Amino acid sequence: MKRVRFAPSPTGYLHLGNARTALFNYLFAKHEGSTFILRIEDTDLERSKKEYEEMLIEDLKWLGIEWDEGPDRGGKYGPYRQSERLDIYHKYVDKLLKSGDAYYCYCTEEELEKEREKAIAEGRPYRYSGKCRNLTEEERSEYEAKGIKPVIRFKVPEKTVVFEDVIRGVVEIDTKEFGDFVIVRADGMPVYNFVVVIDDALMEITHVIRGEDHLSNTPKQIVIYEALGFNIPTFAHLPIILGEDRTKLSKRHGAVSVRALKDEGYLSEAVFNALSLLGWHPKDEKEILPKEEIFKQFRLEDVNKSPAIFDRNKLRWMNGVYIREILPLEEVTKRAVEFFEGFGYKADFEYYKKVMEAVRDSIETMLDIKERAKVFFVDEIIFSEDVVKEVRSDEKFYKVVEAFYQKIKDKGGISKEDFKTITKEIQQELGVKGKGLFHPLRIALTGESSGVGLDILVEVIGIERVKFRLKRFLEYFG
Ligand code: GLU
Repeated sequence: MKRVRFAPSPTGYLHLGNARTALFNYLFAKHEGSTFILRIEDTDLERSKKEYEEMLIEDLKWLGIEWDEGPDRGGKYGPYRQSERLDIYHKYVDKLLKSGDAYYCYCTEEELEKEREKAIAEGRPYRYSGKCRNLTEEERSEYEAKGIKPVIRFKVPEKTVVFEDVIRGVVEIDTKEFGDFVIVRADGMPVYNFVVVIDDALMEITHVIRGEDHLSNTPKQIVIYEALGFNIPTFAHLPIILGEDRTKLSKRHGAVSVRALKDEGYLSEAVFNALSLLGWHPKDEKEILPKEEIFKQFRLEDVNKSPAIFDRNKLRWMNGVYIREILPLEEVTKRAVEFFEGFGYKADFEYYKKVMEAVRDSIETMLDIKERAKVFFVDEIIFSEDVVKEVRSDEKFYKVVEAFYQKIKDKGGISKEDFKTITKEIQQELGVKGKGLFHPLRIALTGESSGVGLDILVEVIGIERVKFRLKRFLEYFG
């Protein structure tokens, strides 16, 4: 049985890079029918926060990513939070100390700094010298007596680590490139490169799928697997994500967290779809892909190693397609409610639904509702200076609006069809048509020169609002 995991550190919002990692693990699990685990990597106690863990879980769920085992769901490989696994880690640290694969190191910051400066002066990259590798019992006791708190380092064997990355092919790294690294800090906390191995091994992870930024950690982890006699999983390092300007995706590129995209009115389905294309694409190059299709087609082997570009305009476009064509009206409206309310557009669900039907073709994100749907909610239409000038310069404006008003003022309702009939009558009676007919009505009803179909508008806002707006126009310009 294949097992994969997403292992975020709860130190902030779920950003797009991590969301893509989570997603690709999920897609792999869906495609392969394997188990997906959520593990919270919170050994950095200062930066990790419970609130962030909760937000991560919320954001993953919002995106539509589901896991089989995790801190919120349990599972037989738990606990799934590293802070609850410290005893386990220490057991393995002891094992490495006993086997001689790890050792206490008492070098102080100053000493290490000196080593580092010397290396720089000699023009070679800095590696820990291994000075504490072979301390005698007496030497250790002396340091202990001085009250120096040691770190624990892994005794890295001299070798070339070779592994086959599913995405990048064969990777070779000489261990000289990193030297003996710390696995337990002086405060007793084990570090990422060590605990991740223990967790992945004990949780029987078969495929480690993570960002390319971890590539340099992998050989360090492999030598630990080897020292402990664990099975080494298959690795797949996902390509880095860049902004459109080809620099690493960051805040400079606008919203880069899942939460921010949600707040900016993107649909989770569109974000899911767009993220799935960051480094992968289906055989036929289609871009709008329902989830099921992605699950069916996704293969880790097809992920590119070249950087993926996050194109915000494409996401916007895609979101528009999901709003217009993919989600049913009822569902799109449900997602829009919080936005309508946020803009102060008060109404019941049925009304929102009608408005959504009228504007969904012209919006790309839910934030666009603010402008596009305004005419369905405001009471008083504001006439700009230009509009006032325009109306006053042509008496037809007033005449058309007045004619329309006379025809509806005693009515108890108005439908799209009524609107068409009435405008046809006015066309004949006043001899105006096209823009000459509809533009004045649009100005009177909306204050704007373009927007949704007027027949739809009048039907949705209803006869009373229509009367009110026209009457106001007539009073204003009368
Ligand atoms: N906590 C690490 C991160 O968030 C996990 C890396 C890994 O998947 O091994 O980058």
